Amino acid sequence: MDIEESACLKVGPFGGEDANVTLLHDRFLITRKEHECLTCLDTILPRKRMRARTERDNDDNTLKTFYFCWPCCEAMAADWNNGNFDLSFDRAEIRVARARQREDAWRRQCDEALDAEAGAPVDDISLHCDPCY
Ligand SMILES: [Zn+2]
Repeated sequence: MDIEESACLKVGPFGGEDANVTLLHDRFLITRKEHECLTCLDTILPRKRMRARTERDNDDNTLKTFYFCWPCCEAMAADWNNGNFDLSFDRAEIRVARARQREDAWRRQCDEALDAEAGAPVDDISLHCDPCY
């Protein structure tokens, strides 16, 4: 593990939330499958090095693994090295922008499906579309 990776792992990615979880693993590894970065929502392609954090949720006894892309890991390492121990503001901004784009795209699909009126999969799409909740 290089210096950047160890600095990245010192940054808590959830901004101090105190959920009832037990940390099981928090480490860098090479992906086998495609994942989505929790911080910026970017796609992490197979065979990329990234941070993977696995927690057990003690309320419902489930395991959850969160993945972080390399640019977000670099941002976390830079934050640590600069004395800022919270989630990188810049990366969080990317997340907000991507989430907004996705919601706009889902809403467009939903509108189109409603316009089509003929057996369109509105139920699937409406899971994501705020106005359809
Ligand atoms: Zn990311």
